[in-house]
Amino acid sequence: MTQSPTQPFPKQAAKLAVLTVPAFKDNYLWLIHDSVHAAVVDPGDGQPILDALRENGLTLTAILLTHHHADHIGGVPLLLEHTQVPVYGPRNDGIAAVTHPLGEGDRIEVAGLDLALSVLDVPGHTLGHIAYVRETPGANWLFCGDTLFGAGCGRLFEGTPAQMAGSLGKLAALPDDTLVYCAHEYTLSNLRFAEALEPGNKALQLRIEADSRARGTHLPTIPSTIAAEKATNPFLRTTEPVIVDSLVAAGRLARGADPVATFAALREWKNVF
Ligand SMILES: [Zn+2]
Repeated sequence: MTQSPTQPFPKQAAKLAVLTVPAFKDNYLWLIHDSVHAAVVDPGDGQPILDALRENGLTLTAILLTHHHADHIGGVPLLLEHTQVPVYGPRNDGIAAVTHPLGEGDRIEVAGLDLALSVLDVPGHTLGHIAYVRETPGANWLFCGDTLFGAGCGRLFEGTPAQMAGSLGKLAALPDDTLVYCAHEYTLSNLRFAEALEPGNKALQLRIEADSRARGTHLPTIPSTIAAEKATNPFLRTTEPVIVDSLVAAGRLARGADPVATFAALREWKNVF
């Protein structure tokens, strides 16, 4: 169908997309954009973001932060030197640069973009860690920093196992088709741990094949989906009898332990796996 030039174009929000910007050894910085404006999530390094903005003809309009670690906020000063934009971030994670402090239940309209995000508190990796959720049918997105990873989860630097298990439970309750934009490429290492726990999990085997192929050609395994994580990520599968059996057999869990104890045992084992 052609459109007459005299007819106004239907008013329609520009489609949003997410650009992957690798940084450091295994970080992913995310640029959410509409082909003109862009918001960056967790700019641990500023220069790769400035380069990506220039290469793609984008103007930065917002910075979104999930937690206070340097590899997530280190690029903020350089970006703010170039352009003064709002800095959204956790209310309780000690980040001085945050201009828009956020916590559980907050909803934001991201400056410069037709993008609404809601905020979840996800303590565990740090105490003030937040996640951003876009609830748009067909384009559900999660930006979860270092909380949920491909087939794994963040280390407990500040929080308790109960806090992290609760945070992961919130993320697992998001729609199955939610794309999981986490901040690190740790998937293959996490999958090796998952396989040791659940060698008979067919979905896990298929994921190992697919993600190994992807990394073999240097493609990211991220974003994954909430459905894939629920099917293969041991940290979301603490009630699976096979996983409990593996922990018990390894002498890392007492029979009859609750899911939080199972989670804690998984996390401790992974730390030394
Ligand atoms: Zn971190």
